[in-house]
Amino acid sequence: MRWSTMHIPTLRDDPADAGAPSHRLLLRAGYIRQLMAGHYSLLPLGQRVRLKVTAIIREEMNRIGAQEFLMPVMHPAELWIKSGRWELMGDELFRLKDRKGADFVLGMTHEEIISTLATEMESYRELPQLWYQFQTKLRDEPRPKAGLMRTREFTMKDSYSFDLDAAGLDVSFLAHRDAYVRIFERLGIPAVPADASSGAMGGSTSTEFICPSPSGEDLIVRCPECGYAANIEKAMSRLAAVDDSERAGLPAAPEPFATPGVRTIEDLAVQYQAPADRQIKTLVYFLDGVLTLVLMRGDHALNEQKLMDATGATDIRPAQPEEIRDALGALPGSLGAVSVTGHPIIADEALRGRRGMFTGANTDDTHLRGVDVERDITVGRWAPLREVAAGDACLNCGHGLEVERGIEVGHIFKLGYKYSDALDIRVSGPDGKPVKPIMGCYGIGVERAMATAVEVHHDDKGIIWPVAIAPFEVVVVIAQQEDAAVAAAGEQVYQALLGSGAEVIVDDRQVRAGVKFSDAELTGIPFRVTVGKRGLAAGTAELTDRAAGSTVAIPLDEVAKHVREAVAGA
Ligand code: ATP
Ligand code: MG
Repeated sequence: MRWSTMHIPTLRDDPADAGAPSHRLLLRAGYIRQLMAGHYSLLPLGQRVRLKVTAIIREEMNRIGAQEFLMPVMHPAELWIKSGRWELMGDELFRLKDRKGADFVLGMTHEEIISTLATEMESYRELPQLWYQFQTKLRDEPRPKAGLMRTREFTMKDSYSFDLDAAGLDVSFLAHRDAYVRIFERLGIPAVPADASSGAMGGSTSTEFICPSPSGEDLIVRCPECGYAANIEKAMSRLAAVDDSERAGLPAAPEPFATPGVRTIEDLAVQYQAPADRQIKTLVYFLDGVLTLVLMRGDHALNEQKLMDATGATDIRPAQPEEIRDALGALPGSLGAVSVTGHPIIADEALRGRRGMFTGANTDDTHLRGVDVERDITVGRWAPLREVAAGDACLNCGHGLEVERGIEVGHIFKLGYKYSDALDIRVSGPDGKPVKPIMGCYGIGVERAMATAVEVHHDDKGIIWPVAIAPFEVVVVIAQQEDAAVAAAGEQVYQALLGSGAEVIVDDRQVRAGVKFSDAELTGIPFRVTVGKRGLAAGTAELTDRAAGSTVAIPLDEVAKHVREAVAGA
């Protein structure tokens, strides 16, 4: 390809409103353009990278025996009503009507459709099946952001497994896990498999592949000692035991005391000798519309996803102060659950068995001391709700945990029977009786993977693509285009590289060498061969390695061989 005829609209300056490096650089280097918030066009360089990413994923899917499908983007609402997701998915699901008034959805994933296709299987002998596709997903994300990282329209490789039993699902799940490890390695994305919440998708085991990056929206908890890794929505840590025995003789019933002006855990701790780990923090949430009290130890934070996982609620929000006052008779700062009976109460496991505790009295400026959680509070449900904090002890080995930002690039789930039940997938079993297959589902966001690779591989001059997904392996820069001898030598080098099978672009524009160099750096092409006057006199060209920043002189007639070696060694 020739730079002079390709559409590569690089920008001299950073675009406004692009914060994340990948957003900024993909725009600047002429890979993407925004159509509207959350919807991007890929320009020729962007599409070349996307095709390389999909090719790698496709190879690894085929390698584990998965078969490629292609399912429609638009689905009849009926199937989504059957699966329950018409209700469950709320505003994230794009819905539309056709001219006859019938309801449709735009697929955010394809469980309903793949499951419908799976109903044609007849016998357990056809299992296992691994089916996948690359297809556009549409999601009405509340906050599209960071360029390709979170869009409303993106390509997903989604795959689905059907097995005879749970042991079979384990095998399919592990095959995917291994394939994902290989895929991210080949894409140059250092993703860590981490335990994750299954969220609204249902199912049991789920693993997210998270690439550590300050631009990420997820928090990943990691143990540097034993390798434990989990999304903070799921992560657990070891809690030091608290000794309440000296509190046993304390009041036989909770004792109110005046706490004027006390609003926070800290206020109560400092002014009334009530250490935070002796306090009960009372949070008030609406869970699917039901006002619910959520109790945490004073020094612990609630993780909302854990609350959703524990209760199955899909729509949660903190209650407003007025709503709280109407329900409990006090404002935040003096809330408690002692003697509350009219509202469900869910408590974190760390409060189990605790005595001699402090909490609000549901009267403004009043607290209670001597609270025995199990004696004085009608806890309807106990659950692990606490969010792990950096420095907490690892559940496996006791070492201090680290908390880091990361980007979720892939997600694999054991789905179980949710869709086999909803869409009635049955095959005849070994004994002739019908059995329902057990399912798994597995997703990688293609454009998010591209953005993530840029987050990990860039410098202040631009992108530094891993060779495997670069739009071109090598760019030939003709330093003095106006010099006929240089131009001819550059053309010869270009032809030699083409002939050797290299993926090469020649920068044959009538612009200054400096512009060509900075565009080569900005676009992140891994190798640059510079043909210029000075080298030509000596019969050499320069080979520059974008990642290493190193340049060596090589004989003009051996460029193809040197580039081949450099590409192979990268
Ligand atoms: P997130 O928590 O980031 O919203 P998710 O849990 O909704 O992701 P899945 O439904 O598991 O994502 O989708 C599988 C993969 O699709 C994700 O791991 C990610 O790579 C990609 N993906 C999901 N949502 C988006 C989006 N809005 N834009 C781009 N890629 C996405
Ligand atoms: Mg999402």
